[in-house]
Amino acid sequence: MTVLHEAAVTANPLAPAWLRHPDDANALATGVWPARAERGQDGALRLAGVDVRALAREYGTPLVVIDEDEVRERARRIRDAFATVFAPLGAATRVYYAGKAFLCTEVARWVGSEGLHLDVASGGELAVARAAGVDPGLLGFHGNNKSRAEIARGVELGVGAIVLDSVVEIGRVAEAATAAGRVQPVRLRVNSGVHASTHEYLATAREDQKFGIALDAAEQAVALIRAEPSLRFLGLHSHIGSQIFDDAGFGEAARRLLGLHARLRAGGEVPELNLGGGFGIAYTAADDPAPIEEIAAGLARVVGETCAELGIPVPAISIEPGRWIVGTAGVTLYAVGTTKDVEVPLAAPDGEAAAGGGEPARAAGSAIRRYVSVDGGMSDNIRPALYGADYAARVADRASAAEPALVRVVGSHCESGDIVVRAEYLPGDVAPGDLLAVPVTGAYSVSLASTYNYLPRPAVVAVRDGAARVLIRRETLDDLLARDLGAGAHEAPADPTRGAPA
Ligand SMILES: *Cc1c(COP(=O)(O)O)cnc(C)c1O
Repeated sequence: MTVLHEAAVTANPLAPAWLRHPDDANALATGVWPARAERGQDGALRLAGVDVRALAREYGTPLVVIDEDEVRERARRIRDAFATVFAPLGAATRVYYAGKAFLCTEVARWVGSEGLHLDVASGGELAVARAAGVDPGLLGFHGNNKSRAEIARGVELGVGAIVLDSVVEIGRVAEAATAAGRVQPVRLRVNSGVHASTHEYLATAREDQKFGIALDAAEQAVALIRAEPSLRFLGLHSHIGSQIFDDAGFGEAARRLLGLHARLRAGGEVPELNLGGGFGIAYTAADDPAPIEEIAAGLARVVGETCAELGIPVPAISIEPGRWIVGTAGVTLYAVGTTKDVEVPLAAPDGEAAAGGGEPARAAGSAIRRYVSVDGGMSDNIRPALYGADYAARVADRASAAEPALVRVVGSHCESGDIVVRAEYLPGDVAPGDLLAVPVTGAYSVSLASTYNYLPRPAVVAVRDGAARVLIRRETLDDLLARDLGAGAHEAPADPTRGAPA
């Protein structure tokens, strides 16, 4: 039997082109799972030496598991990658962890102890940073609509930098700093016109979006900042997008910003340049982001060359990775509740469909998509519904030799768009009671979680050296009812069926 013939027999026509039929539907793809994810002797998944069956028993499902060493190692790796290539240019580098990707007090302490600064984007994130004991001088404070109260709080605490997003905000921060008797360091976010995303970048004259000040209006804004005695201008900031796989977009943004940066030097000091975050990671085996060392090197080359052309010293360079640091460290465990085989009609190949003018499309047979329902969904991971994001999945409590079947993993919510994993091959004997693991849920899942359908939000546990500990406890029905002031009238029965450890 040829390989081609075999693929024709086994591949499901409903599978997207990027999804390869696996030789082994138990395999853990490199770069998609934490480095310490492995299957034990009996085939069950272990995360940093902790058996997922024990985690599910102890903490219930859905459960978000964060590999602490994965977070720490990636924090060190990206810090070192940039420091190594910019040091020969005489430039200091600083890494801000973008807390919005996933923030809790422990994670703030982890990244802090690895030498990272921290970005917050609201009074709430600022409160978490404070609760974690982060030195306010290490904080960057973002947001396009910070309230006067949030600004006052930031200034009072002495945050290291406030990133100004509009001309209106220049006056507001100056006012708050004057009232507090402080000089507040600030950056100015500019819209470089570069918008980058995975695989491609578009350079448009001026992008139609809410963040930052247009490049050609920035000089005037900096003049306004410099006219305020209560503000100290640090430099320009740009953030061009997210889940970016190479250095082209970053390089183009750096080139554009440095031209302006050089002109601003005529009017005073410009000690730094902040190039934002957005470094991409692999969510499935089909994703192939460039190694961060390569992106750092490409960026250092562009920055070095551009500064030489402009005849200016290389400023201190800051970056703000979020996803790259925590994404791959997270794995969500779900319990499978039901499975269902759905027969899906296949579209006729293009050209045949409408041939003959108005004839009905010719039937092209059908294929089976297996729906696997789990005990979470769009409330604990909105990215598939929000961005059409793809994920992988594996049966986690056992390995299986069953023939792979194409599945769609869906949640428990009242929405047909409640998809957890759009397309994946799992062993064909996947069944109710199985534990399912979805990797790369460390970023923008917990931080974007909701309580839709009154599903309590999952617990988050950290694993390290064979031990687990709770970072954020599971939400309870009491938590959910606590804000409903009419709920005291009748005693609400506790729901023993969901969220509790089995
Ligand atoms: C979201 C954001 C980041 C982090 O983006 P990632 O894609 O998680 O790296 C950095 N800076 C700013 C200003 C952001 O809004």
